[in-house]
Amino acid sequence: MGRTRRDTRPKNRFLPAHSLTGQSHEPRPVPPPRRAPDFRAERGLPSGPEHFRQNPVNFVNFAPKRDARAVLTLATTTPGEPEIFASLQGEGASLGRPVAFVRLSRCNLACQWCDTAYTWRFTGDNRPHRDDLAFERTANQLTLEEAEVAARIAALGQDRLVITGGEPLLQGAALAKMLALLPEGMTVEIETNGTVAPHPALDSQVAQYNVSPKLAHSGNPAELALVPERLAAFAADPRAWFKFVIARPEDVTEVLALQQAHAIPGLRIFLMPEGTSSTVINERLRWLAPLALEHGLRLTDRMHIHLYGDTRGT
Ligand code: SF4
Repeated sequence: MGRTRRDTRPKNRFLPAHSLTGQSHEPRPVPPPRRAPDFRAERGLPSGPEHFRQNPVNFVNFAPKRDARAVLTLATTTPGEPEIFASLQGEGASLGRPVAFVRLSRCNLACQWCDTAYTWRFTGDNRPHRDDLAFERTANQLTLEEAEVAARIAALGQDRLVITGGEPLLQGAALAKMLALLPEGMTVEIETNGTVAPHPALDSQVAQYNVSPKLAHSGNPAELALVPERLAAFAADPRAWFKFVIARPEDVTEVLALQQAHAIPGLRIFLMPEGTSSTVINERLRWLAPLALEHGLRLTDRMHIHLYGDTRGT
């Protein structure tokens, strides 16, 4: 944030400031309130109510089939097999660390380039996606008791866990119960789109948030994707690292506006190329590197794509 200039004029709380300067006493016109640039409108993308007029939403992913004992809704690697696995963290502040991953199903946003659309775009969900894929729910989603999820994570033998999705914070209470069943000493990271407040019982067990607010090119209306009080809360939390998905150089302008609006420290901001192939990621890293340097931001690769491609369970 820029510094505010000190007001060195004499202080007199009974007189308007301009009366102390010898200038006209005519009231000054009140400037219009400042508004953040509308990046969605500039790109011809619908926003807010207009978005929903054009894309009436069918929230299929908010009605998971449940039974009385099963409380966590997970993504699958293959039908019936929950996406719980050991790998190296491929992005952001913990890049390269060996970790256990668990991927939850369901999301409250719909990014048109989402590389895990199998967590939310089930048959009947008509929110737009560039591949226009529809996933059969029962093959791509399952529910498990917290104790079974904890046991599968513990069996991987890692001391660090990354909870990803979908949007994991939609299942905060159940996650809190599951984490309480893990072996002592497990360090927990949560990947989130930054729109949902962490459940208090979960928040106290989290060491790191990887917050990825979605920019205009995601196709989400700003009213859903950018929640000011949530962004400010994460900006003020030293556990939170921000990771912005960048597809074009002008996306960085939007990041800088958000950085200023929500007082996000630059050294907790990563720029990350959007892409699901090494070719695309490497091409974008080349023009992103000088932009990160110019603006004092960090840069992150998507290492898992180079190693394993765009595949589940990696
Ligand atoms: S917030 Fe994440 S999981 Fe949800 S649609 Fe966007 S990229 Fe996909």
